[in-house]
Order: sequence, then structure tokens, then C-alpha cells
Amino acid sequence: MKKEDIQNLITDHLNDTESVMRPLSGFKINFSSNKGFHNFFFAVSCTCGTSALLSVEVSENKSDNEIETAMTSIVERLIMQEKSFRRMDCKTHEYMNKGFLPENHDK
Ligand SMILES: [Zn+2]
Repeated sequence: MKKEDIQNLITDHLNDTESVMRPLSGFKINFSSNKGFHNFFFAVSCTCGTSALLSVEVSENKSDNEIETAMTSIVERLIMQEKSFRRMDCKTHEYMNKGFLPENHDK
């Protein structure tokens, strides 16, 4: 499966949820640049204007079948990150705007 196809699959799955994150394709900065992994980035924003970057990794070695099987947990990981962003109050969001990054729940 090509990276774009995986991205589309993730987006498809997110459409079935309450989630309102948007995909950031062509995002160049690679925070957790692990070789052998595709990195996918999504953004969520709050009414206060703060946005957070969500990310998930998928191994390049996974077969199409394995990716489809893993899709539920991939989407869950993104939703978990989105939820933890929405749980924070806007005061915390303000701190994030000043350069504080939330814990990465992927690790
Ligand atoms: Zn906020």
C-alpha cells in the first residue's frame, strides 16, 4: 500500500467517528523520524485558536492486510491524542501556543 493510500484509509476511518481532525499531507517536519515508518500527521484546533499536531506511525513493512487490521488501533491512537487535547482547558492551550508540546501518547 502506498503512503497516500494509507492516508486515505485513515481519513476514511476517521469519517466514521466524531473526530474533526484534518489531515496534514505533505507535512515536511518529521518529529519522530523513524526509518522504516510512514508518519501521518493530523491537526485539531480549539475554539480559542490553538491547534495541536497529532501523529501516528505505520511500519513500511506491513502488508496491505496487516495495515487494514491495524487500522482500528491506528485511528484509536489519533483519537486518544485528540481527546487529550480537548480535555485541556484553554489556559493550557495558551501555554502550548508558547511552545509547550503535550505528551506524545504514541510512545
Ligand atoms: Zn482552547
